[in-house]
Parts: sequence; structure tokens; C-alpha cells
Amino acid sequence: MTAHKSAPPGFYSIEIGDSTFTILERYQNLRPIGSGAQGIVCKDNVAIKKLARPFQNVTHAKRAYREFVLMKLVNHKNIIGLLNAFSPQSSLEEFSDVYLVMELMDANLCQVIQMDLDHERLSYLLYQMLCGIKHLHSADIIHRDLKPSNIVVRTDCTLKILDFGLARTAGGSFMMTPYVVTRYYRAPEVILGMGYQENVDIWSVGCIFGEMVRARRSCSLAPTTSTTGHAGPEFLARLNTAVRNYVQNRPKYQPWPFEQLFPNDYFRQTARSTAA
Ligand code: AMP
Repeated sequence: MTAHKSAPPGFYSIEIGDSTFTILERYQNLRPIGSGAQGIVCKDNVAIKKLARPFQNVTHAKRAYREFVLMKLVNHKNIIGLLNAFSPQSSLEEFSDVYLVMELMDANLCQVIQMDLDHERLSYLLYQMLCGIKHLHSADIIHRDLKPSNIVVRTDCTLKILDFGLARTAGGSFMMTPYVVTRYYRAPEVILGMGYQENVDIWSVGCIFGEMVRARRSCSLAPTTSTTGHAGPEFLARLNTAVRNYVQNRPKYQPWPFEQLFPNDYFRQTARSTAA
């Protein structure tokens, strides 16, 4: 990381990886903690995200705007909160960078998934994911991109959902681009380009939880049909002809029995409840 001189008054510039952060002087000791499709995230005693080229095209601008507005509006303990937002540019003509300042968490769920979590911690993490999602759904917001890298936790096991770049408000079932949720966590109706609703987020939560229960045994869930079995006639009837032909020609699988996927001994009891 290299410090620069040329920054507007009250700001300083510092290079982080391939990116230059020009940030308010009050945020010192910046260190990178992660990067996603939308930008690079650093920490001081807060998390600061520099949105990657937010105005390069209409899609990026809409995503940046959605993330900013939703993070500001949604107020729930399981959704990441926006503390501040700023730009080093002071005129509309120059306006090109947006920085979002958020509450700082300790790790994302990818880093936690491999840990041998006991039943109590697993349940608490799942409960908090569901509380966050329920709150979003009650405001007619579908997240659409839930995955372990955009769920963050603290060492005290509290959890918050990040990233609203792909979220948009619901309002009935409608078609949206099929490429919005990272494949492993996508509901079938999203993969197959059918109309979809809030429940696509519940599917993603199920996949994440399944991975939390199984991943530390290095056997994460295989893609959809090899786990749940081949789609039935009722589901196939809802597909358009081309997609139906594709699905029908896929290899046939029997669904895995639930007891085999998630045997009871995968849920380690806490010392307290074992003793009881
Ligand atoms: P994002 O670009 O929002 O998907 O974030 C990319 C990564 O940065 C995440 O997977 C987290 O590891 C990290 N990150 C983002 N926001 C925070 C935060 N508020 N607290 C801690 N880590 C974060």
C-alpha cells in the first residue's frame, strides 16, 4: 500500500492492490479485507467499500444506486447497516467514485463454513439469516444473490446479510435475468429462467445451511438434481419446450434420502445440552 499526495482537502489517497482509495482523513490504518463483483472492501474500525466504476454503464449505476438506497433504508440487526457514504469529488461533472462506510464484521461465512460448529451455533446462524430475509421480504425486497461470501459474522456469532446490488423489489412473480444468483445457491426456477418470487432466497438459505452442516466433512452438496432427484411432470409442464427438452434429457437421479444427507450425528450437541 502506497500513500499519495494529490487528494482534495480533507481526503488522502492510498493504493490498495490495483485500486486507489481516496478517502476521508478520519479513516486511517486502512487494510484490505475482501473484494466482490462490486468493489474492494477495506477496514479501519469500520468497513469501507469502494464501488467499482459505478457509473460506467446503466447497469452498474442502477446496482450502485440500489445498494446505496436499500442499505440506507433497511434497518434491521441482521442486515448490514450504512454508517456513512462519501465521494472525494465535489462537482457533478467530476463525480465518479462512491465509498460506502459500513459496520465492521469479523469474517464472511465462507471462512466459518469449514468450522466444526455445534448445534447451538448452527441454529443461531440459521435463525439470524432467516430473520434478515424475513425482514427484506416484508419490505418486498428479494435479495436474489445470497451466498456465503455476502453473509458476514462476528466472533460472538452475530450475523448480517451484505450486498443489495442484485436485490430489487418484488410485486408478484415475474421473469428476471437467469444469471443473478451464483449457481450453487440458485433455485431451479432461477436457473431455468422461470418466473420467480421471494422463495428463491429461502432456497439459497437452505443450500447455505446444507453446506454448513456437511462442508466440514468435505462433501458439499452436489448440484440440484443429483441431490433432490429428477423433476416431476408437474414441474416439467411449467417449462417452455426448449428448456423442458433439455431437462428431460439430463441423466436421471433418485433423490437422496434426507436421513442420509443429514444424519443426526452431523449435528454436534453443545457440551451443555449433551450433559443434560
Ligand atoms: P462485497 O463486495 O460486499 O461482496 O464484499 C466482499 C467481501 O468483503 C465479503 O465477502 C467480506 O469478506 C468482506 N466484507 C464486506 N463488507 C464487510 C463488512 N461490513 N464487514 C466485514 N467484512 C466485509
